Amino acid sequence: MPARLLDGKQIAQTIRSEIAQRVQQRLAQQLPPPGLTVVLVGDHPASRVYVRNKRKAAQEVGFVGQVLERSADIRQAELLDLIAQLNADPSVHGILVQLPLPRHIDEAAVIEAIDPAKDVDGFHPLTLGRLTAGHPTFLPCTPQGVQELLVRSGIPTAGVSTVIVGRSNIVGKPLALLLAQKPTPAFPLAGDATVTLVHSRTRNLAELTRSADLLIAAIGHPGFITGEMIRPGATVIDVGINSVAGQVVGDVDFASVYPRAGAITPVPGGIGPMTIAMLLKNTLQAAEALSR
Ligand code: NDP
Repeated sequence: MPARLLDGKQIAQTIRSEIAQRVQQRLAQQLPPPGLTVVLVGDHPASRVYVRNKRKAAQEVGFVGQVLERSADIRQAELLDLIAQLNADPSVHGILVQLPLPRHIDEAAVIEAIDPAKDVDGFHPLTLGRLTAGHPTFLPCTPQGVQELLVRSGIPTAGVSTVIVGRSNIVGKPLALLLAQKPTPAFPLAGDATVTLVHSRTRNLAELTRSADLLIAAIGHPGFITGEMIRPGATVIDVGINSVAGQVVGDVDFASVYPRAGAITPVPGGIGPMTIAMLLKNTLQAAEALSR
């Protein structure tokens, strides 16, 4: 039997409708619309597309979505000043600085300058520390998108043997923290899974991926995970977004994995739309906390 397709686009649309409804309720209660400001430095073509999609998604659910563009030669002090202004602006509930930044800018210093109460990307060390400690505020968008997709698709994670390929700060590492922890009232999305985090130095990688009932690929290598690397019937989540000959493809070789998997996310239409939906969810959460 072919795998069940996990339709991230459809689930993300449902979440966006729920958020849009809540925005209407806020407006009816005379509360301000959530405000999301995205800062784009330079003109990296992929970043430009991501930022445009984020603004469009924000505006569609009724947020005030703005993009502030700055040239690639901006001085770090000027960028930090801009962030200080956004931190102080009560109409801005969420601040996202699109990465990567030009090389002369210290990315960590910029992320740390964002007020943790407005850290809707979830990359501030305080936000990540709270996730590690088991009482998170904002969950980083892509890991949260993976878990929301699993929950809303009725795929359990408790006790499930899970392998995550990739240990980046924005995907693999926080996803491992999210999936491995014990759920509590303060952290209901925690996955309770049995997690193995693998990377480029891992030995016997295929042996480990074949042991997983839930396999998540966040590598950045097109088609890296092939059919013989998965356990028949496994759930396979493809986080990868790679451009190959003008086409967007994932880290999973769909043609060989689909016939063996139990469930699989497509690329595009899987985790990408879920990530944007989680950015909206975090921004609404920030607005609810900052302007009750
Ligand atoms: P990074 O390049 O930061 O991290 C890649 C990870 O994969 C590293 O941990 C690296 O290991 C590991 N890796 C690389 N080669 C191998 C290998 N041969 N065997 C095992 N592990 C390997 O990438 P990101 O986490 O930022 O992104 C991963 C993918 O997800 C990309 O395609 C990106 O475009 C996509 N992405 C998608 C998003 C979405 O919204 N769907 C959001 C963010 C990213 P090591 O640490 O040892 O170098």
